[in-house]
Order: sequence, then C-alpha cells, then structure tokens
Amino acid sequence: MPSSHVLVLNCGSSSLKFAIIDTVSGDELLSGLAERLGELDPQIKYKFNGDKQLIALSPNDAHQTAIAKLVELVKQLQLDSNLIAVGHRVVHGGEHFTKSALITPDVIEAITKTSSLAPLHNPANLLGIEAAQSAFSHLPQIAVFDTAFHQSMSPEAFLYALPYTLYKQHGIRRYGFHGTSHAFVSAEAIKILDLNETNSKVISAHLGNGCSVTAIKNGKSVDTSMGMTPLEGLVMGTRSGDIDPGIFNYLTEQLNYSAKQIDTLLNKESGLLGISELSNDCRTIEESAADGHQQAALALDIFCYRLAKQIAAFVVPLGGLDALIFTGGIGENSDVIRAKVVAHLSFLGLEIDNDKNLAARFGSEGVITKQTAPCAIVVPTNEEWMIANDAANIAQEQK
Ligand code: AMP
Repeated sequence: MPSSHVLVLNCGSSSLKFAIIDTVSGDELLSGLAERLGELDPQIKYKFNGDKQLIALSPNDAHQTAIAKLVELVKQLQLDSNLIAVGHRVVHGGEHFTKSALITPDVIEAITKTSSLAPLHNPANLLGIEAAQSAFSHLPQIAVFDTAFHQSMSPEAFLYALPYTLYKQHGIRRYGFHGTSHAFVSAEAIKILDLNETNSKVISAHLGNGCSVTAIKNGKSVDTSMGMTPLEGLVMGTRSGDIDPGIFNYLTEQLNYSAKQIDTLLNKESGLLGISELSNDCRTIEESAADGHQQAALALDIFCYRLAKQIAAFVVPLGGLDALIFTGGIGENSDVIRAKVVAHLSFLGLEIDNDKNLAARFGSEGVITKQTAPCAIVVPTNEEWMIANDAANIAQEQK
C-alpha cells in the first residue's frame, strides 16, 4: 500500500500543535508545537528523526505565519509529496456532527454556529482551518470533533434538569469531550482483551490536565462526565469539576464575585491546584504528598475519591463492567492514583497487581489488576493517530 501521510493540526488560541502521521505504519514522522502566537516571542519547536529543533518567529506572528513556516518546513524535509489530507481537531461539534467531516463551506458555517458553545476553542480551530486551506489548497481538509463520539448518548444521559426550552432554543445540554481519546482507547482495549465489541461494557478514564470518564456500551458512548463545557465532572488540574450550583449565587451575593471572576475561579484556580495551594501538576502533588505536604495529600485523596465515585456510577448505564481503562498523562503514568482508585472499587472485584501497575507506565500498556474479568488496563491514548486515520479514510472516499 502506498504511504498515506496526514498532517494533523490542533489549533489553540495562541498555540498550534502539529504532526505528520503515516497512517499505514502508524509512525509519527514530524511533531511540533508553535506557541505564544500573537505574543512578543512566538516560536516553533519540532521533532524530526529524533532531533529537536527550534524556529524563532517575529513578534506578534500568529497562526497564518506559523502555518506558512510549517509549509516551508514540510517541503524542506521533503514530507510534502506523500501528504493526502489535513486533519483538524475541532473541540465542539454540537449536535450537528456525529462523526468526522470533510470541510466544506457548510461545515465551516456549522462550526462557526457552534462557537457560542466553545468560545475559546472553536474560533481558534477555525483560524487553523482557514490558514491550512490557503496553504494546502490542493489537499482535502477534515474536521475531527471532540464531541462526536458522545452523540450516541440518550436524552436521559445528556439532558440537564433545566427548563426544556433552554435545550430546544439554546442547545444547553451535555455534550462531553475527549471523544477521540475515549473512542481510541476503548477500541484498543476491546482488541487487547479480546472482548466482543457488540457485547462489551467498558469505562475509560482520560486523566490529563483535563479529566473525564466515559461509559462505553457495545462500542458506543452512553454517558460521560463532562457536560456542555469541559468544566463538569471530575476534579482536574485547575478545574473544579462538579460543585453545587448554589455556590455561584453565594459567591456573587455574599462575596461580590463577578461572573468572569467565578469563571476564572472554577476553570483556572480550582482542582488539584485549588485544594493543594501548591500546583496543578500531578507529579508535583504526588511528590509533595509523599514528603508530608498535607494539602497535596488531601488533593490526591479528593481526586481519587471523586474519580472512583464517577466510575462506580457508570456501572449503572453499563449494567456491569468488563474493563476500566486508564489513559492520559496521569492515567498512563501514575501508579499511585491508579492504585488508590482501584482500591476504592474493590467491591467490583478489582484488585491491583503492584508489579503490573508499576510496569504499565511511560508508554507501556497492560492489565494492572490481578483479575482479567473484570480488569483495569492502561492504554496510552493516541488522538493524533485517530485524527489522521479518520482524515485518511474520508480523503480516500473522495477519490
Ligand atoms: P496530559 O494533559 O495528558 O499531558 O497530562 C498532564 C498531566 O499528567 C499532568 O498533571 C502531569 O503531572 C501528569 N503526569 C505526567 N507524568 C506523570 C507521572 N509520571 N506521574 C504522575 N503524573 C504524571
């Protein structure tokens, strides 16, 4: 089969992550990050053939310039001839997108309409799409949505108990995120454990800076912990996850917080950072807890307790459990958090195997419990590969 390389772009408001993936071999040929775009000292860092390099940009250079430099780089490294598509990560697809889509003017309009649901993310994703369309006008561009995998949820799972008109008129409902990751790791776990996809009960925990848990029945998302925004659900690095909505009123009425201040408090000052008053980084929290820092230990305990409680709740829509998957920076590396969470879930018949738990770190996958049914398993996520693969499939359909 000829090489089918896909350029994967993940555009944030001031950053652009990129990779070129060979969708036949699965190899990552180039990867990098353009950061501080639009600021005083933007730069591009990239890795090619194991070598790390830096390209300095001029002050205030933004996405357009970063993509122009990326095009030059791709040509210079002779990676352009096998490119068959550009795959874009798009955060919010609303109810419009249940799967990845070839980018057309209609698709751009639908993504633009959804921007009110993800005002920080979708406009940045659109910037990347626009810049890539002019730079790679000969290539099909494909949008891969974080929300799409969760469009299989039923109203019972996705509706809030709010006046129905808020859903009908304004789209206020639960959408869920990290869908590309949950889809990838659940399919991998089903393969590794030789489960029957059409009769499987899997829970995946994507634990990184953002954290979410998804219940996946017969290969489809039936419930997930994030909601209309990625703030709902679990304790995260700097996000609070679920809180009593009455706190919002207390903060405004009694403590004179503005809506903007509350948004910052819940998104940027809470979670592991808020409880520990030390760091949002799980490694620092673990090391400090081990050194006797009491609030770091408390942050870890709350993180694990809330996570275990959410996992146990998702046994309800599944009606049982075949496998619990850990992924993301924390899920793939923290034996400490995995052991604590599995200990909370012993009533489900899960018991950690210390050797296996230590072995499955730093990119290694594997079952980490003494039992295999049900089991807990570590599966490193690979969102770039999923995006590249979807983009390659859709590009082939166009031929
Ligand atoms: P991600 O957003 O998936 O890159 O994950 C970032 C999170 O993973 C941060 O909280 C890191 O501290 C955490 N992480 C990465 N490596 C480790 C490790 N060895 N032990 C504990 N947490 C880790």
